[in-house]
Amino acid sequence: MRCPFCGAQDTRVLDSRLANEGDQVRRRRECNACKERFTTHEVAELTLPRIVKRNGISEPFEENKLRSGMLRALEKRPVSSDDIEAAISRIKKDLRALGEREIPAQELGEKVMKELSSLDHVAFVRFASVYRSFQDVSEFTEMIEDLQTTARDGGSAATGREPVRSTAKDGGSVATGKEPGRQR
Ligand SMILES: [Zn+2]
Repeated sequence: MRCPFCGAQDTRVLDSRLANEGDQVRRRRECNACKERFTTHEVAELTLPRIVKRNGISEPFEENKLRSGMLRALEKRPVSSDDIEAAISRIKKDLRALGEREIPAQELGEKVMKELSSLDHVAFVRFASVYRSFQDVSEFTEMIEDLQTTARDGGSAATGREPVRSTAKDGGSVATGKEPGRQR
């Protein structure tokens, strides 16, 4: 590659190493003409598909938008930022693997819901209720049941996490349990 200082084409690589957790190769080079040194970064060219919204308008995939949507659903939930970042990486990897130039926003939404369902059930329900405009409740219930069945059969990351449970029952029993104490 051409030297950025003098423009000579005769440069050599002094050192190559992996950077950015192995996603990049960083090379230290030296120009044989002027002896200046410079660094190059090599990255794989993998573009993410554009996201086509319901109204037919497509927009570039925005990682920050995805992250803020997930963080909103995960607000005050016991999920580490490492786990969230890993989920985002998996979603991006999946999107790249599709090899499509455009995908429907719904497809991205489904991937987010799948990740959230194994991270935290409360976050999943929060996201799903906002994301999906459910025509009827049974459709929503069916999907949750499907996901729970998959989690049980597949032994995925969802296993071992506390299922979402209604506290109404417990709350009720606490209330009825408040009997006036006998005092001696
Ligand atoms: Zn040079």
